[in-house]
Amino acid sequence: MNAIHEALQGVKKQISQVADQCGRSSHDILLLAVSKTFPVEAVEAAFDAGQRAFGENYVQELATKSTALAHLPIEWHFIGPLQSNKTKIVAEHAHWMHSVDRLKIAERLSDQRPAHLPPLNICLQVNISGEASKSGITPSEVMTLASEITKLPNLILRGLMCIPAPAATHDAQRAPFAALRELLQQMQSEGLAVDTLSMGMSSDMAAAIEEGATIVRVGTAIFGSRNYS
Ligand SMILES: *Cc1c(COP(=O)(O)O)cnc(C)c1O
Repeated sequence: MNAIHEALQGVKKQISQVADQCGRSSHDILLLAVSKTFPVEAVEAAFDAGQRAFGENYVQELATKSTALAHLPIEWHFIGPLQSNKTKIVAEHAHWMHSVDRLKIAERLSDQRPAHLPPLNICLQVNISGEASKSGITPSEVMTLASEITKLPNLILRGLMCIPAPAATHDAQRAPFAALRELLQQMQSEGLAVDTLSMGMSSDMAAAIEEGATIVRVGTAIFGSRNYS
């Protein structure tokens, strides 16, 4: 068994242990393998180990890898910041887009979604820790943007995504995830058919699952540490 296969088994085991402990089914938690900066071969190795959903942060990497691996039944998720002049690549190559934070991006994605593909699954990125430097909308902006997006024909609004500020303790990790869950529940109570909480990464996945994550986005714990040079 290679290193990626072994790491994937470990992450899946952790997901099912945490799910068991909090009375959830691990079938309700999608493991998204974040392959950014890693080559096509790493994605293939994870695919051979049974992984089917992959996340990318950079549009060019999404285009390159999804084209190279077009023969494999992979579900591609775009999770990074997106400039409006690059929306076409995401509209053409992704099944999910987690980081929508303005209407203009959503409108372009809907306009550019090819007719032969199903609607693009959308999460709104929320700046849940209120960090000045972070992307994402504020909690008070969620309902307005959400209702605009439900009017766009080639998108399907699925839920919310966040990247909280790093926290020192487990309880401090849970707090922003609880806040995102409450926001999703508020959307549901206002009649929106949303079901997705994209939250939790290698270092805070357990806290996110305890607060209801339905997608965890895990890179380092599967592929190792990234080298950006
Ligand atoms: C890189 C990245 C991840 C994965 O982070 P790890 O700490 O490597 O697990 C998850 N979500 C987003 C948005 C990312 O950019």
